[in-house]
Amino acid sequence: MDITALLRPHISKLSPYSSARDEYSGKEGIFLDANENPFGDWVDGQYHRYPDPYQQAIKEKLSTLKRIPAEQIFLGNGSDEAIDLLIRAFCEPNQDEVLLLPPTYGMYEVSAGINAVGIRRVPLTADFQPDVAAIQAAISPKTKMLFLCSPNNPSGNKMERKSLRQLIREFPGVVVVDEAYSDFSDEPSFISELADFPNLVVIQTFSKAWGLANLRVGMAFSSVALIRVLNLIKPPYNISGLTQEKVLQALDQAELLERRVADMLAERAYLERALEASDFVQKVFPSHANFLLCKLPHARDVYEGLLKQFIIVRDRSKVLLCADCLRISVGTREENEAFLAAFEQVASALAAEKL
Ligand SMILES: *Cc1c(COP(=O)(O)O)cnc(C)c1O
Repeated sequence: MDITALLRPHISKLSPYSSARDEYSGKEGIFLDANENPFGDWVDGQYHRYPDPYQQAIKEKLSTLKRIPAEQIFLGNGSDEAIDLLIRAFCEPNQDEVLLLPPTYGMYEVSAGINAVGIRRVPLTADFQPDVAAIQAAISPKTKMLFLCSPNNPSGNKMERKSLRQLIREFPGVVVVDEAYSDFSDEPSFISELADFPNLVVIQTFSKAWGLANLRVGMAFSSVALIRVLNLIKPPYNISGLTQEKVLQALDQAELLERRVADMLAERAYLERALEASDFVQKVFPSHANFLLCKLPHARDVYEGLLKQFIIVRDRSKVLLCADCLRISVGTREENEAFLAAFEQVASALAAEKL
């Protein structure tokens, strides 16, 4: 399959804006080409030049770390930017559709909505797995993209690899596998399978395991042809130079990631055991992410009780298949202990009141 055949016609005909930094990418010389301020800034004296529009230094390091050529990597202002650009590249407004599997990450729907792209929904099964037959039955000629999130937000589980492979292989459009939480999972990334699937885009982020949510940097991995299109339609300088420096610093100490993840998993296990031991909790869903979805009576009241003690969790009780569920991000040991103490207090007060 030639993925570029699926692009919106005007996108495949587009010629790129050529920025000053595109036309000459050398580091040496006297730069009089970009209307920058030659006297420098008065903050640090180093931010008066436009940054590298293609973030090559980061991509070279990522290429080694992720074992994929740099030309197959796109960097966005958060993975949310990659999601938005993908929808814009492939889905004709007021005509095409994306296929979503609720309950899932909210930004797919938001981005589709902003771009006037339709949404078709096929709920996950009761154990939050994709219903392959129902998904295939829902595909129409308008269905251009399928979003698969594994490990899934808000349920936390990983999806069966066999189903994911079958969906990617048989879907007639672009399939996005969102691996925002894959660093917390024992499941290998789909990056290693990109060569088998020309219609696959894998999304990851620096916002979760890397601890850099504030910087807003996300990654997309795909075929050279598709990455070229994302680079063509992105805003020219979508990642600031300051941000690029910080990401490079993090990548220079990439060995720390594993330790951070191990700490996080130990805390998740602690929180999971404590919640499972609570009489009030009906179910803690198995998690491959850095949060736990938890089913309990009067979820909204529990949420509000916690809020009064300035402990903020995510109320998912109105979300499909998540009735009576709260999503709790794993904190530090101190934070988890404070949460658990407040939770037991709120839960016992509620249990007494509702008897
Ligand atoms: C948090 C999250 C992201 C990350 O988005 P960024 O824009 O990179 O911060 C992506 N997908 C899912 C499913 C998430 O939960």
